[in-house]
Amino acid sequence: MKTAVTPLTLLQPGTLADALAMLRDEGPLVPLAGCTDVYVTLNFGTQPATRFVDLWGLDELRGIAEMDGGVRVGALATHTELQRSPLIRERLPILVDACSQVGGVQIQNRGTLAGNVANASPAGDTLPVLAVAEAIVVLRSAEDERRVPFTGFYTGYRATVMRPDELIVAIEIPRVDGAQWFRKVGTRAAQAISKVVMACVRGDQPRVALGSVAPTVVRLPGTEAALARGAGIDEARRILMDEVTPIDDLRSTADYRKRVCANLLARWWTETS
Ligand SMILES: Cc1cc2nc3c(=O)[nH]c(=O)nc-3n(C[C@H](O)[C@H](O)[C@H](O)COP(=O)(O)OP(=O)(O)OC[C@H]3O[C@@H](n4cnc5c(N)ncnc54)[C@H](O)[C@@H]3O)c2cc1C
Repeated sequence: MKTAVTPLTLLQPGTLADALAMLRDEGPLVPLAGCTDVYVTLNFGTQPATRFVDLWGLDELRGIAEMDGGVRVGALATHTELQRSPLIRERLPILVDACSQVGGVQIQNRGTLAGNVANASPAGDTLPVLAVAEAIVVLRSAEDERRVPFTGFYTGYRATVMRPDELIVAIEIPRVDGAQWFRKVGTRAAQAISKVVMACVRGDQPRVALGSVAPTVVRLPGTEAALARGAGIDEARRILMDEVTPIDDLRSTADYRKRVCANLLARWWTETS
């Protein structure tokens, strides 16, 4: 049921330094990027915060650039910008696939990659891609900057290592070698939250990550190790079925999700042979 929105405070810094100082001195403040996730909570009256800092005007957080053979994605890069980026299309086409399936065009025009990451939903479509790409989350506060491996960014359901005085300023994606593969399975082709979302890289060390099957996005080290030592796909499927422990929820049953994951694994292997 929708509830009335209480009076809100919106701070609008002119520079990144101002934003970080506000987070340090005037917090707690909730950062707003595209606001597509936050707006839903405001609209439904489930947003406990009333004080926000608007990042949208901060040019320092924009841009997609080549870096050390990989790519640095500014925190405000939207799903649409990522889809249109020649660099991302060349280096990480599975991120293009994932961004093109986040909601509809309007959501993609406003929603950002960093917002998808910080929102920390286990169903975030870009998260398995960043997990197999072994991305780095660049966090900055007024005092310092630290670079956190994406696979260590989440500490539990909707929980991250990010402090309240920090912002994601960029996501760094190293060069990815090997065939890339992405698949989202939802109730319908568009505008659906995933039942299962999978990203894989088939290189010397195969990498597999899944969303919507655990409290956070997960890599599958047992399945990856089996494939790396040359196990057949039937054995890898069996290992995956033991490794994945989804829950029943309103979007799907655990059993269905397990079977879909195993089938996707086999599909990936066949399609990239
Ligand atoms: C109709 C609809 C459909 C959707 N469909 C999908 C879908 O199919 N797949 C999917 O994955 N998502 C979907 N979403 C969710 C959402 O659009 C994405 O998660 C989007 O990427 C969020 O980006 P944003 O910039 O709008 O984040 P915001 O709403 O601005 O912020 C989200 C969270 O991240 C924090 N945050 C944002 N930027 C930063 C930063 N730089 N540093 C620190 N914290 C930050 C905010 O404080 C907030 O907690 C949908 C949303 C809607 C409303």
